[in-house]
Amino acid sequence: MTSTLVTRIGELTTNDPTLGDGTALGRLGSAAFVVEDGRVAWVGSASAAPECDTRLDVAGAAVVPGFVDSHTHLVFAGERSDEFEARMAGRPYDGGGIARTVAATRAASADELRSGVAARVGALRAGGVTTIEVKSGYELTTEGEARDLELARTATEQVTWLGAHTVPPEYAHDRAGYLALLTGPMLERCAPLARWADVFCDRGAFDLDEARAVLEAARSRGLGLRLHANQLAHGGAVRLAVELGAASADHLTHLDEGDLEALAGSSTVATLTPGAEFCTRSAYAPARRLLDAGATVALSTDCNPGTSYVTSMAFVIALAVREMGLTCDEALWSATRGGARALRLDDVGHLGVGARADFLVLDAPRAAHLAYRPGADLVTTHLASVPSRPLRHPPSRRSAER
Ligand SMILES: [Zn+2]
Repeated sequence: MTSTLVTRIGELTTNDPTLGDGTALGRLGSAAFVVEDGRVAWVGSASAAPECDTRLDVAGAAVVPGFVDSHTHLVFAGERSDEFEARMAGRPYDGGGIARTVAATRAASADELRSGVAARVGALRAGGVTTIEVKSGYELTTEGEARDLELARTATEQVTWLGAHTVPPEYAHDRAGYLALLTGPMLERCAPLARWADVFCDRGAFDLDEARAVLEAARSRGLGLRLHANQLAHGGAVRLAVELGAASADHLTHLDEGDLEALAGSSTVATLTPGAEFCTRSAYAPARRLLDAGATVALSTDCNPGTSYVTSMAFVIALAVREMGLTCDEALWSATRGGARALRLDDVGHLGVGARADFLVLDAPRAAHLAYRPGADLVTTHLASVPSRPLRHPPSRRSAER
């Protein structure tokens, strides 16, 4: 086994509160850590570091855990820049544009889709994402959703079935028929290919009863649960996510006090998507109120062709700080350990002993530069756990919420 010493770190963020300054960020100056077999084996002061086989001298740079992007829609064809252009000229987003991407994705070959996924995963990785969640949801047929899940599995184990993204046009006058397909044959076909199930529960999408039916059916097939909740309007989706023990409720633009209390008293992570609000010129989710209430907050890109074609987690961090009132440290934690919590993963999003050695060396002396210099490409080196080849085994569901 080869050991590597990463040393002369100006500012090391471990996200392990037992290390360094004792805060949630577990921060150390003049630090070093040892990587053995892809895991962190030792963390401490550079002056006390043990001998190792090889050495990576980062010359005073800041080092942070790799970003964990817990919400993306990377499997799609086509693009919708014309919609974005129109929206910026004053037309509000009403959720109807998904059907365009569904048509383009159904018409695309597997090779086209595969190269699109690879390009987007490459962009996210280049920006420092080392763990990623990928959803289906742009074919909405049994075989189409299965195809998209197989493609997602080439990028990650964190694969989410989102057959309940919207009602496809052929079922526009038969919602009950689509619900029966979702909870019957489509789930049957897709459950073995996914770790998670998600529903777009919102105005113009699926209502509470429909979302509950899909999520309960998915849970009975062993899938963990996530929910697109309260993005476009206030409704009961957050309460439903908490009641069903979902790992995450995502978007959360419209929350009342009861929603805040429900999230704060639960293990359901509040996953925020400031890129979507930025790209749709919408109100930002009340991140400060969530944090002050005691909820666990994650940040994600929500990378998708309609409302958030964002592939930079550093940009998401900058938005969270500038537009949502998070501190620089809160935003970094939410983009790393918060994302890991939203995926119920214990060994990513931090650099404590035993964690996967997914880390980013920044072209900056402090992690605050991620928000301080928006748009700058500060990730110079990273070791990533995103596999570059297709996974041969079904994703593990060991830590999925039942
Ligand atoms: Zn989404």
